[in-house]
Amino acid sequence: MLKRTVYAMTLALAMLASSPLEAGRFGPPPQAQHPATATYVAPTADEAADMLFMREEEKLARDVYLTLYDAWGLAPFSNIATSEQKHMNAMLLLLRKYRLPDPAAGNLIGEFTDPELQDLYNRLVVDGMRSPEEALMVGGLIEEVDMEDIQSAIDRSTQSDIDAVYEKLMCGSRNHLRAFARAYTALTGIPYEAQILDQAIVDAILAAPREQCNRR
Ligand code: MN
Ligand code: MN
Repeated sequence: MLKRTVYAMTLALAMLASSPLEAGRFGPPPQAQHPATATYVAPTADEAADMLFMREEEKLARDVYLTLYDAWGLAPFSNIATSEQKHMNAMLLLLRKYRLPDPAAGNLIGEFTDPELQDLYNRLVVDGMRSPEEALMVGGLIEEVDMEDIQSAIDRSTQSDIDAVYEKLMCGSRNHLRAFARAYTALTGIPYEAQILDQAIVDAILAAPREQCNRR
């Protein structure tokens, strides 16, 4: 008798747990069953603008590198384009989490929703098509610009999950700058010169070893 009652209760509880409707009426309130929903925090206007921009800025890096790899066949462009695709994916996850529309949706390589990024892409491809040396300097410039923009976004962000993604992108950019600078010096015999960051900051990055960014 007792055994049957316990069995019936277990069955009833299992049905409760597996039925969203019944759980809503008799079980814990729906919110408690969806902690991801319960912890949603609307992004600030700055955070939203930065996440939208960063999704496309990572796309700019990927698209320029794919285009310059086609032109010159230099290995860093291919390897780093793959990394930029991962950065784009990480930003897309953030956009979904914060319920923002993807500005890159439906855009082909070299197509951007942000007119500033469209203009920058057009100019950088023209520069990079002049010679392999200029292409590698374009790579270095993109990484320097990325680091500056990522730092500004980190400064504006109030959310640790957003910051964590930006830190990963920043770590990747340091590695990418190292790779472009090394390839530039190997090709020309000339040390890489900083283009928008302080030379001391760039020198410190180039002097440090390659980092493992995935473990962060
Ligand atoms: Mn990146
Ligand atoms: Mn990069």
